[in-house]
Amino acid sequence: MKKVSFHTFGCKLNQAETSAIADQFAKEGYQIVEFGEPADVSVIHTCTVTERADQKARQTIRKASKLSPDGKVVVVGCYAQMAPEEISKINGVDLVLGNAEKFRALEFLENLPPLQEIPLVRTNGLYDHSIFQDAKTENTHGHTRAMLKIQDGCDFNCSFCIIPFARGSSKSREYRNIIHQTHTLIQNGYKEIVLTGVNIGYYGYQSGERGALKRLLKDLDEMEGLERIRISSIEPNTVDEEMLEIMANSRTICSHFHLPLQSASDDILQGMKRRYTLKKYQALVEKISQRWTCFGLGTDVIVGFPGETDARFKETYDFIERMPYSYVHVFNYSRRRGTEADGLIDQIPNKVREERSQILRKLAIQKKLNFARRHIGTVEPILVEEKTDQGLQSGFTKDYLKVFIPAREDISNQFVPVQITGTWKEFAVGEIVF
Ligand code: SF4
Repeated sequence: MKKVSFHTFGCKLNQAETSAIADQFAKEGYQIVEFGEPADVSVIHTCTVTERADQKARQTIRKASKLSPDGKVVVVGCYAQMAPEEISKINGVDLVLGNAEKFRALEFLENLPPLQEIPLVRTNGLYDHSIFQDAKTENTHGHTRAMLKIQDGCDFNCSFCIIPFARGSSKSREYRNIIHQTHTLIQNGYKEIVLTGVNIGYYGYQSGERGALKRLLKDLDEMEGLERIRISSIEPNTVDEEMLEIMANSRTICSHFHLPLQSASDDILQGMKRRYTLKKYQALVEKISQRWTCFGLGTDVIVGFPGETDARFKETYDFIERMPYSYVHVFNYSRRRGTEADGLIDQIPNKVREERSQILRKLAIQKKLNFARRHIGTVEPILVEEKTDQGLQSGFTKDYLKVFIPAREDISNQFVPVQITGTWKEFAVGEIVF
């Protein structure tokens, strides 16, 4: 039996797509093994939002070719889309596929050209922007929660962002296709689905249906056998009163909001071409706080965007400290060729960006810990996931608190009620209460 391994960088959308590609290999009889084990094929699904992401991808590509010198190395995703020549120069790479071609990896592998024409590079398909690349997932190969791709690409063109270049304009998965896919996932035993995309608030927009995401949420909420729906990340300006109403009245939609902030300085938000002001963002968080007593609130922040003075950075720090965030992802601003912000003159020195990132990361750990502590004494159902090698198992609450419990044989992929008793690192720990 041939073996294939996968390494995925970046967002939940990449994870959803890796699951779909893995599914194709499994159906062709491949055994999926952990990345790091020797394999006949190693697929590296890349991200390119920062220079660091590119760097990590290059290291992983080299590692894959070292681990399996006779195996094929396939590099796909956003970095492959944006820098195919750079990747094809790395020793050991056999195939470089862009965001449209990656779903045909098997087909390309079976028809590899002679050695002198290796690596084979195919990255042009993306430029037919109207085509939604389906990521059909029936089995997520080791993941308890199923990432379901409903949308791709973005029309927002934030000035720092390379994603519209790497994934094209916004496009959506066919409605019936999502419903059908969800039925299949339920039949295959999945209890929680995570709706993923680049800008899922724009789901259905290009076909003129502005309320499509709300309709989808309502329909999914009524599906028998589905116990949780999670929205992976949503642009703040695409969430309105009606959507909050649907979420608050639903049986299954998680009280978990990932609302990218990027900066809490209005000047910087304007420079970034974000589509909200700080006041509007804050008003949204207040509305959420009025409806839910306990909810998870996550965000992404970019540190060191051009023009970010100490005072503007402080605005961001103070805002994050004040807001009820349960986790914060901190990104060091990275110049991306071709983006508008790359041409701005007031770039911040790397040393300053790094220092500010460290400061915010410390605050992020504190926010996470505070969130975990707030749950101590409560009893919450968690959907139990993987075992760790320390005899523990973990799962998430509805509001996205990660809880570790002592491992047991019979509870994987089950909802179990857990009393939160304390914290471990920045996570919660608890005991099952039957
Ligand atoms: S909303 Fe802005 S940051 Fe997010 S993917 Fe679109 S362009 Fe990039």
